[in-house]
Amino acid sequence: MSDDQGLATLMATIFDDANGAMTPPIVQTSLFSFDTYQAFEDRMAGRTDQPIYTRVQNPTVATFEALMVKAEDGEAAIGFASGIAAITSTLLAFVKPGNRIACVENVYPDTYRFMERILRPFGIEISYHSVEAFETEPDLLDGVDIAYLESPNSVIFKPMNLARVAEHAKRHDTVTMIDNSWASPVFQRPLTLGIDIVVHSASKYISGHSDTVAGVVVSSLNHITRIRDLTLPLLGAKLAPFEAFLLTRGLRTLNARMMQHQSTANLFVDRLATIPQVRKINSPGPNDVPGLKGRSGLMSIEFDDSVDIPKFSDALRHFRLGVSWGGFESLMLPARVGLAQAGEQNSMQRFGVSPNLVRLNLGLEDAEDLWADFINALSKSAA
Ligand SMILES: *Cc1c(COP(=O)(O)O)cnc(C)c1O
Repeated sequence: MSDDQGLATLMATIFDDANGAMTPPIVQTSLFSFDTYQAFEDRMAGRTDQPIYTRVQNPTVATFEALMVKAEDGEAAIGFASGIAAITSTLLAFVKPGNRIACVENVYPDTYRFMERILRPFGIEISYHSVEAFETEPDLLDGVDIAYLESPNSVIFKPMNLARVAEHAKRHDTVTMIDNSWASPVFQRPLTLGIDIVVHSASKYISGHSDTVAGVVVSSLNHITRIRDLTLPLLGAKLAPFEAFLLTRGLRTLNARMMQHQSTANLFVDRLATIPQVRKINSPGPNDVPGLKGRSGLMSIEFDDSVDIPKFSDALRHFRLGVSWGGFESLMLPARVGLAQAGEQNSMQRFGVSPNLVRLNLGLEDAEDLWADFINALSKSAA
């Protein structure tokens, strides 16, 4: 942390407002005008920095970006229209044909598709590696331009020792980039562990209310300037003022929500360990790797063959069936639904995810109600 205040205190930041408003105004404008020729010319020549056009700069978006800089302990940030826009706009600012990307296995499925369907045909070489390989093979990154990481990764939620991988990367001049959506800055601050660039799907914990699709990238001023000059204006996937307002509202309660998600997740992990049909629990927690400070509410479990997953799904009441996560509501996603997805060989097939795996997003409902729902559905799910 740049100063020694806690995250929740930092997120309660009061910004400048002549009337003392507690929440930022939504500056719903596409353009900003200039009083004089000289002021206009000065701005275009880069001598001043007032906003010109909302595709690149907007005060409501800037308020959210400033809070994210504090939350992740970075130097600068850019809000995007979605998490995947933050990921693709960042990657495209750093790669060129002939470059090599080393990507973690079981990466978010649309990130995988972006690598395979867009970057690879443009002449970028991509290889996928296990968490262990990143940690224990110091020369894995030899000749690699970008290491694309998630910790924990998607679906099987395997955490990575980020400080160690950052050390390997520095020796090979590899830029490290991580999707930190699972942990949120409450439980993990990758920049403080030596990672270069952090991206988030802000649609998840940062928003927290299942009402926004958005993304954000946080890094050094140098890296952010590159994205701001190149892919932000030219791909144009900019965060809108209203969404930025919702995300700022989400950040105010992020810490409190993460504590509640963690408490419910702890209860589930303790009790799941006693359930005979549960073969495996994928739910990293505090200190499983250095720098990981908590357990979020997104986990997966592998059942044995005695559980009929469609029956189990249909018997749930509080857990709804659906994609996404990070909101107030609990959700369940069976891996076999992902495996059934039409089209090319997808990342779950490629990396051997079990069809008996289900992903749980533990929301903000009462933990005992959620557990009772889970156990009741399990009791009705004999194959
Ligand atoms: C949802 C998600 C994304 C993509 O974010 P969108 O906001 O849906 O574009 C990226 N990474 C992870 C880990 C996600 O869960």
